[in-house]
Amino acid sequence: MILFVDMDEVIADACGAFLERYNLEFNESVTLAQCHGREVWEGIPEERRDVARRYHHEDGFFRNLKPIANSQEILKALTQKYNVYIASAAMEFPNSLREKSEWLDEHFPFIHWKKRILCGDKHILKGDILIDDRSFNLDPFEGRTIMFTSPHNVNSKGHQRANNWQEVGELLL
Ligand SMILES: [Mg+2]
Repeated sequence: MILFVDMDEVIADACGAFLERYNLEFNESVTLAQCHGREVWEGIPEERRDVARRYHHEDGFFRNLKPIANSQEILKALTQKYNVYIASAAMEFPNSLREKSEWLDEHFPFIHWKKRILCGDKHILKGDILIDDRSFNLDPFEGRTIMFTSPHNVNSKGHQRANNWQEVGELLL
């Protein structure tokens, strides 16, 4: 069985890094909880959004993300049972390609480079299971879909949900 796993907001804490960067620059303490039900940038004042939007383009942003809790051990276990591919729309931020690759080398060394699909549109993916935090990736997927909970998607419906990696393990192991 082919299992595709997204990176940002599924195995890599991009939201957390965004807020950390924002809070540092503006000396604030916006929390993930304040971003529930909306995009993380929607949780900050409108006049600062243009500044904050460039964070994803800064060198080092994707290289220094923290792995999502328990993603490493559960994903490692899943590789014993499934043909696991990481699938990330990395082309949205072209500079992220090398950083994402190096990040996987460090935190997910058991995912061989041949199992990393750093791509544009994920709609081309054909496989059995997709774990992602975005409806626009999950909706067109023809196999089983699992929405990984992230503050922005708490109100999204229509897909089986995993709130954390323990729950992914319960569903798939
Ligand atoms: Mg994602």
